Amino acid sequence: MDVKQREGVLSALRDAVKPEVYDVWCKSLTFEETDGGWTVPTANLFHRELMDRELRAPLEEAFKRVYGVVPRVVFVVREDFRPPAETPAAPRVEAPVNPRLRLNETYTLDKFVVGPSNRMAHAAALSVAEGGRSIYNPLFIHGSVGLGKTHLLQGVCRRLLDRNPHLKIVFASCEAFVNDYITAVRKNGLDGFRARVRDLDVLILDDIHFLAGKEGSQEEFFHTYNALHGFGKQVILSSDARPEDIPTLQKQLVSRFKSGLVAMIDTPTFEMRAAILSMKAKDRGWDLPDDVLHYLAGAIQSNIRELEGAVTKVIGYASVTGRAIDLELAREVTRDLLEIRVSPISVTDIQKRVAQYFKIDVAEMRARRWKKSTSLPRQLAMYLARAHTGHSLKEIGGLFGGKDHATVVYAVQRVERLRDKHGEVRAHLDALTRLLNRQC
Ligand code: ADP
Ligand code: MG
Repeated sequence: MDVKQREGVLSALRDAVKPEVYDVWCKSLTFEETDGGWTVPTANLFHRELMDRELRAPLEEAFKRVYGVVPRVVFVVREDFRPPAETPAAPRVEAPVNPRLRLNETYTLDKFVVGPSNRMAHAAALSVAEGGRSIYNPLFIHGSVGLGKTHLLQGVCRRLLDRNPHLKIVFASCEAFVNDYITAVRKNGLDGFRARVRDLDVLILDDIHFLAGKEGSQEEFFHTYNALHGFGKQVILSSDARPEDIPTLQKQLVSRFKSGLVAMIDTPTFEMRAAILSMKAKDRGWDLPDDVLHYLAGAIQSNIRELEGAVTKVIGYASVTGRAIDLELAREVTRDLLEIRVSPISVTDIQKRVAQYFKIDVAEMRARRWKKSTSLPRQLAMYLARAHTGHSLKEIGGLFGGKDHATVVYAVQRVERLRDKHGEVRAHLDALTRLLNRQC
């Protein structure tokens, strides 16, 4: 086959498959003529099977367009095969781990309470869990911490596995994905990593905002995403912010994430909180009276994980003391829980302290326009506000000159990075934390 013919076949192929598929799998194909057909070298067994399954038909069609007949096409594994775009590495396909092992037993869809704050996310998740090619691809669920993202994603994973135990599905935190990727790069095992993640029917990645500030991982995830999505494989993601609010996320990823369905989980209503409390208690074999449910649901509003903490405490206390669970007991037990929430340190205190410490004007903290020279103190103050007050990211941003939630996320992540790398920043943080603790 000469260059022209190869180009002809490739361009016919390009018309027949999605652009992402073409980029990842087709661009670098070579063809060797054999008796009455064509041999197509591939890098490893995984690639061979996948291409045989997904590319045979479009490839035969492409040959037909150039040569006028449908030839015999054989995909073969060549040990020395090096597609130009891939890094050379030995293929390493690990035995799949039973995905159920990674799932929390109580995070099932029938134990997920549905209401106005999560109805859309839940409906989309259900539709994906019913299997088949979904229109919600990717499904992107976002919401603050403790509002049920992980529960919902794991519920979908479990339901899909119940329907089809042979489904190639991975549920993982984005952090695990990033760590695997980094290990693969270090050990020269990128092929194996790619083989594992690109051969899935469904990829569910939790807390995708973890990609913020990680360029290499973003790039790799982009290719993973394209490879899967290109073949109509389902991708489900969760994040603590909307795609466009994840700091430093590459534009191409933002637009991919927005191309399916983006659904938000908001803070639950009073009725939902009461229903969740009741369900969590029943799970442990306890029936809470209505007035206790209502009291707790009224007292703890923002975070479901805290609600659960309250149930655990109430039940724990009742079982140890042998007392019946009533309103009085609930009040006693949750007193300290509620006090912790109303932190004695305010954002204003933190701003003052940090400004004093760095000898800058406290107005800098709340200024609308920021000077570059004071960015570290401001970011440290945001970090401390996040760590020591109960304010949401949005509220904290508001108190720092009306900045948005993403700015605070970015500040917190930057400080975490610096804290781990630079002794000097760690020392500032320790000193400031001591000052703040002394104050209260
Ligand atoms: P996130 O991943 O958004 O931080 P999680 O999924 O870990 O939150 O949820 C925190 C806790 O709240 C979990 O124990 C979960 O079971 C519970 N939870 C959250 N939303 C619901 C819901 N709608 N129904 C029942 N339990 C819920
Ligand atoms: Mg989670």
